[in-house]
Amino acid sequence: MTTARRGLAVLAAALLGACVPYPGALPDGGGSSAPTPESSFGAISGAFPGLDAGAADQQSLHFDVKAYGSDVAAAVSSSAEQDYQNIMTDTGLYSFQPKGLYHIVIYGSQDEYRKKTGQPDWSAGVCVGNAIYTWVSPRLSGVLAHEMTHLIWFEFMGGSLSPQQRWVNEGLAVYEESKAANRGNELFAALLPGLRAAPLPMDQIENLAPNTERAYDASLWYAQAESMVRFLIERGGRIGFAQFLTALRDGQTFDQAVSAGFPGQWRALADYYADWKRSLS
Ligand SMILES: [Zn+2]
Repeated sequence: MTTARRGLAVLAAALLGACVPYPGALPDGGGSSAPTPESSFGAISGAFPGLDAGAADQQSLHFDVKAYGSDVAAAVSSSAEQDYQNIMTDTGLYSFQPKGLYHIVIYGSQDEYRKKTGQPDWSAGVCVGNAIYTWVSPRLSGVLAHEMTHLIWFEFMGGSLSPQQRWVNEGLAVYEESKAANRGNELFAALLPGLRAAPLPMDQIENLAPNTERAYDASLWYAQAESMVRFLIERGGRIGFAQFLTALRDGQTFDQAVSAGFPGQWRALADYYADWKRSLS
């Protein structure tokens, strides 16, 4: 990875908040200079400097975890597999098969994470290509589930995410984060009265996503995205949610995706939005 490319990846990560497809051709991509969206994913290592010598490495069905200490690697590995199952269950994407192992790098401290990834103070984790970088902290289980949702999204969607789709991606990520951290509705509890009193209009949800994830847990946009995705999954149903995501991946509009995923419930995005808003009261 060239310095320029690494800089690009980090810049894009900072702008998008947490997760970016790997920019350009893969290092082992055979020299292709015009990658297809799919080839933005692959066995990428070295987007950021890895762990120091002597770190443990644990592989499982979907993950390759590197951490300091085999006990930490084993614990992260089993929690990651559990998160993966939860995400597959909630999204209904049982037929989805990742192309290879996802990489998880657990630095020993926030200091090491910041020095090696160049991420800002507030960043709890970042994903680039098919790898998650974070560190040992009390928030680790939630961070893993959040970042993993983004990895799976990018691979399932062929590396594509329009700005208007970010509410689904982030809403799902914070929904999974809440569940992994066993926090139920607590993550955004303080924001719920404000959300009930004055929910953001749909066009603001689509077009005014925050530029970063700084203080996202105090963001009405994030709280609403979580609530809206929770409603799609828990009221609309997981099978319908899979069809909704598949329609988005296939380039359909939100209106088409809503009616494809939830026929008989909502004819278009506005129907769903109105129903979600009624559910708040
Ligand atoms: Zn996120």
